[in-house]
Amino acid sequence: MTFDTLGLLPELLRAVGDEGYTSPTPIQSQAIPAVLGRRDVMGCAQTGTGKTAGFALPILQILAPGANTSPSPARHPIRALVLAPTRELAMQIYESFTAYGRHLALRSTVVFGGVDIVPQKAALRGGVEILVATPGRLLDHVGQKTVNLSRVEILVLDEADRMLDMGFMPDIKRILSLLPPARQNLLFSATFSDEIRRLSKDILRLPVVIEVAPRNTPAELITHTLYEVDAARKRALLAHLVRSREMKQVLVFVRTKRDANRLMRELVRDGLEATAIHSDRTQAERMDALAAFKAGTVTLLVATDIAARGLDIEHLPFVVNYELPYVAEDYVHRIGRTGRAGMPGEAIALVSPDETRHLADIEKLISRKIERRPLPDFESGGARRPRSHEPRAHEPRSTEPREPRPREPRVATPAPHRAPVKAPDGFDFTKPYEPAAAPEAPASAAPARRPGRPVAALLGGLTRRKP
Ligand code: AMP
Repeated sequence: MTFDTLGLLPELLRAVGDEGYTSPTPIQSQAIPAVLGRRDVMGCAQTGTGKTAGFALPILQILAPGANTSPSPARHPIRALVLAPTRELAMQIYESFTAYGRHLALRSTVVFGGVDIVPQKAALRGGVEILVATPGRLLDHVGQKTVNLSRVEILVLDEADRMLDMGFMPDIKRILSLLPPARQNLLFSATFSDEIRRLSKDILRLPVVIEVAPRNTPAELITHTLYEVDAARKRALLAHLVRSREMKQVLVFVRTKRDANRLMRELVRDGLEATAIHSDRTQAERMDALAAFKAGTVTLLVATDIAARGLDIEHLPFVVNYELPYVAEDYVHRIGRTGRAGMPGEAIALVSPDETRHLADIEKLISRKIERRPLPDFESGGARRPRSHEPRAHEPRSTEPREPRPREPRVATPAPHRAPVKAPDGFDFTKPYEPAAAPEAPASAAPARRPGRPVAALLGGLTRRKP
């Protein structure tokens, strides 16, 4: 299938060509006709599937007849509003609109917190057709009467699950109350909790339901490796791996902002190039950190789950789980940062004895036992203690506040799995991904149905239903 068959405007086809895209991804081939048909859409898709173009291209097309170069702000009311959970994701969506809309006279801007509000006010005052925003900052603008949402025709809630996890529900409700009731709604979420289902029932009218897998699945492209190591030796092991394997571009996950800051400082002290990204850093710091990491000028980017959500780093070769996440699904999100765009990736977990319970949860979730790599010098419980000149890793502090995420650590400890085993619904994560629906299939009008295992969708995409 090519983009030509989707009925897109020549200006958009040109922009798509400028980006070097040759064929639409599965979510694009399903979402674009649905949105152009003015249907509400419920999309089960992660970052990395091409979902941004899946909504941005048809939105630009819908707005195109009103495109104009008039200097009058009144001729540029906000007609499409895109809400996203994080600044980084909002920025990436805005950049996509700018890229795909470069041959059209439509204006867009992005507003998010942590930066000066004044330039945002000026951009809004000038008039824009497309506004990308994080909920909190959008409400700041509402409070200061610098934004008018009364002409919004299309609303997009991107990464809705993460917005709810981050406690944005009251903000979203408030924003919804400010929008015209007759509008088109597009909701994208990687997982389908009961809360998401409720939200979609409240907002969406007879939505077209689209479920797609990540473009490249961990099962196909990501190698998982695991080192069993005492918490106090993790940093030395990480430094050893980076140096001995000459690793470049390593995204390192920890649980808390404090852990991220501390680990970054310690790695720098150890002579490695490291930076950090988490929600307490200013927007400028986060953008600098990401730019340096993307450009390859720093080797290690230490991140918390929230900050890393939605990051799209092309060809990221390594993800290190320095501390395992409390919530097993986060492991899937974390490792989904690598193994993209057809490039292989490696997910490395450093697991201390106190984390075996989280590891068991993860292995159960992904229905696979992660390969243990012996490294005698670093093995946990070994007799060897760090020498005095070696860096000492900090102990993970489970009592520290995590990024704002109202989930409790799990307590259930399932028995360790012998893998590979099949998931309860029969899905085998070790097999290559086969799309559940042919990508060419037109978007089907269907009432909101209960998607199958969300994690299956995340990992390999498929939703198998019992007959
Ligand atoms: P997204 O899931 O929207 O964050 O997109 C993930 C990445 O896929 C981005 O780097 C896009 O530039 C890229 N992308 C989107 N659509 C296509 C396409 N049709 N062909 C190739 N790459 C694409």
